Amino acid sequence: MKVNEIFGSHVFNDAVMKERLPKNTYKSLKKSMELGEALEPSVAEVVANAMKDWAIELGATHFTHWFQPMTGKTGEKHDAFISVSPDGKAIMEFSGKELIKGEPDASSFPNGGLRATFEARGYTAWDCTSPAFLKEDTAGVTLCIPTAFCSYTGEALDKKTPLLRSMEAIHNQAMRILKLFGNTTSKRVLTTVGAEQEYFLVDKKFYQLRKDLIFTGRTLFGALPPKGQEMEDHYFGSIKERIAKFMKEIDIELWKLGVSAKTKHNEVAPAQHELAPIFSTTNIATDHNQLVMETLQKVATRHDLVCLLHEKPFAGVNGSGKHNNWSLSTDDGINLLDPGTTPHENAQFLVFLASVIAAVDEYAPLLRLSAANAGNDHRLGANEAPPAIISIFLGEQLTDIIEQIQEDRLATSKQAEELKLGVTTMPNLPKDVTDRNRTSPFAFTGNKFEFRMVPSSGSIAGPNIVLNTIVADVLSRVADELENADDFNGAVTALVKKLISDHKKVVFNGDGYSDAWVEEAEKRGLPNIKSTVDALEYFAKPESIEMFERHCVFTKGEIVSRQEIMYEEYAKIINIEALTMIEMAKKEILPSVIDYITSLADSINTIKAATSSVTVKVQEKLIEKLSNLLELAYDKLEALESEVVKAKELEEIEEQAIAFRNKVFVAMEELRIPCDELEKLSSEEYWPFPSYTDLLFRV
Ligand code: ADP
Ligand code: MG
Repeated sequence: MKVNEIFGSHVFNDAVMKERLPKNTYKSLKKSMELGEALEPSVAEVVANAMKDWAIELGATHFTHWFQPMTGKTGEKHDAFISVSPDGKAIMEFSGKELIKGEPDASSFPNGGLRATFEARGYTAWDCTSPAFLKEDTAGVTLCIPTAFCSYTGEALDKKTPLLRSMEAIHNQAMRILKLFGNTTSKRVLTTVGAEQEYFLVDKKFYQLRKDLIFTGRTLFGALPPKGQEMEDHYFGSIKERIAKFMKEIDIELWKLGVSAKTKHNEVAPAQHELAPIFSTTNIATDHNQLVMETLQKVATRHDLVCLLHEKPFAGVNGSGKHNNWSLSTDDGINLLDPGTTPHENAQFLVFLASVIAAVDEYAPLLRLSAANAGNDHRLGANEAPPAIISIFLGEQLTDIIEQIQEDRLATSKQAEELKLGVTTMPNLPKDVTDRNRTSPFAFTGNKFEFRMVPSSGSIAGPNIVLNTIVADVLSRVADELENADDFNGAVTALVKKLISDHKKVVFNGDGYSDAWVEEAEKRGLPNIKSTVDALEYFAKPESIEMFERHCVFTKGEIVSRQEIMYEEYAKIINIEALTMIEMAKKEILPSVIDYITSLADSINTIKAATSSVTVKVQEKLIEKLSNLLELAYDKLEALESEVVKAKELEEIEEQAIAFRNKVFVAMEELRIPCDELEKLSSEEYWPFPSYTDLLFRV
């Protein structure tokens, strides 16, 4: 296997473009890509033709605009290249117009009331900063064109459009800062992201016997096995051959797509694993993460496995997340979160660092919201990594530096004015910070921040939209102030000091899982937002709307519609989970337990008829215990059914979501308890579906 031949072989990347496009076309396309400008129709025509020839040579028959609707998944509608000539022959066609713009019928995607039925059409537009690629599977080869998805009135109906807008916003503001520091060479500031993806693998034959996994992606019932993750023998453990084969195929499939899958290892929980790519610009990283999730699921089935991306597929062992490593970089390769080696670089670094700290503190509820979904509610704040409280880990050295700045304990220097910032005392920060704190939701790791709350099943667009915009917002204020300063160096010092003083409360280097931190955070006035429905209300607060509007990332209408979609999605998920539980309890658990009790009763009768010299006490005790639990389970089942009915009767979507959280979800947990007890007491032969042992250990 030659990795360099495989890598990017299914991508219409720069090398292919250079080879296949006339020089002038290549130049105009590159210019549009760099400046984010629209493509000339004549250029699009030539690009489309070259793209088509390339795709057909590699076996493609269809093309699709590949977009990211609000479902968090990807959308695609395949069109064949084929058209028919007057003499009845097939010709393969693909026009510039088809490349640039598509018109899928958008009425069935969530839109939160944005698109009235009379204008049910949306359109997709090529994001030429993310290269086209070929998707290949047993069904054929399709040319995929990454696109944004909007309504005809220009509102974003997807996750890519606001992500691109947020990248533009942070570029605009960060460039102002760079100019102030005398940078004349960089043309763009880009955000870079590397998303580490966690997932579980279970055997397909067990998966197919569990309705909860099929319908909800997580187990709604399941007694804990005798062994969980307490032996700590899975994390970084040697990879089983079956899994290794799967991982090898994943690497190859992803490499073909130009996804730089780099690291793979076993995670903490049994049957849990992780994949990390090399970072790239945010929109490509986001596209790639969608491809990673899709490929994991597709390749798993080829190995008779099923990949679970849910945040909490199993109670009692760790859930899955996504670590969103985020940094700021210039087009000429300067990482703006790299402390640097000269005082001047250090001063600039401190401005960016202080701005991120301020943004995360000021907009903590929005950041929390960006990581919220029904699945993540099981992790964040529920005794699992990370806590629901947003805080920043800076590490000892950097914390010490910002404390010095804040307290004016800086070494004064007779040298250049800029040294006033105290950067003479700034040590070289080691890249690989050894005291990494794994319990922090937002950790500085040498030259980037690692946002660890992000849900494993979700698109990373949301968290990055928020991160980019809130940092852009603080940078814009910083730039306003510095641009008007007479004494630049003095202003920088004062500003960094003020940002740090105002926002240092969000910095916390201790154990984020401890109860003491929850108390401490409350004293510091940091929000502790426990669930998705609690987080959602912050989205449409006036200050949030103003902030997003200020940077042209979301309009008020887009925010309100997105909030509605999220309330609705939450309510729907819990509703499906509740209905699945009801069905499993009614049709599987209760009948099986009744059968088992009957078999015990039969056993009593048979034994009593055969002999009077033995007792049947065990059977009697079991019958009693099982019957009591059975009755309790039945009561809880009825209670759950009634809560579902009540929640659905509520008219306001927000109220409904809250009822699903506070009533239905609680009733589900109550039903689970007696059912899991019943599993523990029942004969394996009678239990209606595979156990946690099957799922977690028989892979
Ligand atoms: P871990 O958190 O597992 O110890 P690493 O520090 O090796 O991992 O990196 C985790 C991820 O961070 C990788 O996907 C890597 O590509 C990404 N990363 C590294 N540098 C940057 C950067 N400047 N911007 C964004 N992501 C980065
Ligand atoms: Mg990590």
